[in-house]
Amino acid sequence: MDQKVMSKYEPVIGLEVHIQLLTNSKLFAGDANQFGDTPNTNISAITLAHPGTLPKLNQKALELAIIMGLACGSRISQYLIFDRKNYFYPDLPKGFQLTQDRTPICVGGEIEISTSHGNRRIELNRIHLEEDAGKSFHPPETPDSLVDFNRAGTPLIELVTEPVLHHAEEAYQLLTEIRKLVTFLGICDGNMEQGSLRCDCNVSVRPKGTKELGKKVEIKNMNSIRNVRRAIEGEIVRQVMLLEQAEEVYSETRSFDERTGGSSSMRTKEEVNDYRYFPEPDLSPVQISDQWLEQIKRSMPMLPAELKVQLQDKHAISSEDATLITDSIEAYDYFTQAVTDQNQAQHVLNWMRGPIRSYLKDQNISFGVLPLSPRQLGELAALTAGEVSFSVAAQKILPLLLEDSQRDPRQLAEDLGLLNHHDDQSLEPMVLQILEEFPDKVKAYRQGKKGLIGFFMGQLMRKTDSKIDPKIANELLSKHLN
Ligand code: ADP
Ligand code: MG
Repeated sequence: MDQKVMSKYEPVIGLEVHIQLLTNSKLFAGDANQFGDTPNTNISAITLAHPGTLPKLNQKALELAIIMGLACGSRISQYLIFDRKNYFYPDLPKGFQLTQDRTPICVGGEIEISTSHGNRRIELNRIHLEEDAGKSFHPPETPDSLVDFNRAGTPLIELVTEPVLHHAEEAYQLLTEIRKLVTFLGICDGNMEQGSLRCDCNVSVRPKGTKELGKKVEIKNMNSIRNVRRAIEGEIVRQVMLLEQAEEVYSETRSFDERTGGSSSMRTKEEVNDYRYFPEPDLSPVQISDQWLEQIKRSMPMLPAELKVQLQDKHAISSEDATLITDSIEAYDYFTQAVTDQNQAQHVLNWMRGPIRSYLKDQNISFGVLPLSPRQLGELAALTAGEVSFSVAAQKILPLLLEDSQRDPRQLAEDLGLLNHHDDQSLEPMVLQILEEFPDKVKAYRQGKKGLIGFFMGQLMRKTDSKIDPKIANELLSKHLN
């Protein structure tokens, strides 16, 4: 679409993010909250809403919701009721969903994002607690539909932003930030493919300079953050095209198609249910005490931004390196497990910044599934702190370790004969010998051709089969050349 046409309109986007909470049991029942179990095995009579069963609120779920609210600077509601949201759907065994309509647990708050347009604080409308539905399957090539109720009753928080985003990129960054936040807080595993983190996007466009919001379209069924961005980009263009042709944008819910990047209509506003919300009569209102709230505040996990500052202080590392480490909980856990002694932190970082990052990128995987354990990287870093040169280790040891994660880095270095057998004392005579062999080069160096240090280094490497610590070698050469 023509950039000039696009620039006549301002997109407006609001997100509704569903976050499955990492509790052992469900929101109102004792059965396991576990992804991937045999279908219909975690389905107590309460989850299936058999007559006479009574829900009981899971305190842990409430605590995790409060933790998220505190992390976002939301106001925590201390008086809560749950509401029935009534609708019929095959994956909804009760015929209603328990949610919070009028008393969301968290009100307001904000999440800071950084994009190519600068830093922004994105205002939240609310975060409320609710239960998930079951899951329907439509196996291809059969007329049957199947339903698995294991997911029914799984605790969720739904985070609702204000309609304040204006670029698909901002939505992308916000979701990235939310995923980072919930995984560092330990309240959700952040897995979008398994549906632990799901996002519905509300998109409208309005003529630039106007205030009134356009008709919004809701898009569902994106299974990655990248697809959320694609869906929004596509929807903005679709709406602008309609308006340019003097056609109307209908308020509707659309389903994203991963293959085409487009979407198709699921239901229009006219077909929307009247949910007939009313307070759940089988649950008494919940009062959150000041003491409990204080206790949760005191035991709050550290946020990624706080951990970043802590890392910089503790290991004297740069802001970029600290950002790299706190980019994901997996990277953070990996780093902290690999660093077993203060002196080796820089060397662990050298590896994470260089060869490890390239490998992850090549394989398109994350630290969580890297076939090199933090313990192995720790040992590798200890080796390159003096005994084996970094480039030799990267070329010769690392590939073998990545092939077989059972191997021991030090043993490998020994077997390959890569351990430095040269310390200062054994190197010094060799340095002197090299200077004697190349008097012209020494003279040139002393007259200012400092780049020749590389030449001398090469000579020294050849004499020692590269089994030297480049740092020590460099110091020795400089000492005798200057
Ligand atoms: P609904 O009543 O349809 O559920 P809400 O007002 O509760 O709508 O808002 C749901 C989500 O849609 C929120 O994230 C909000 O920011 C977003 N939203 C509301 N109106 C618009 C709009 N006109 N354009 C884009 N997003 C919107
Ligand atoms: Mg709403």
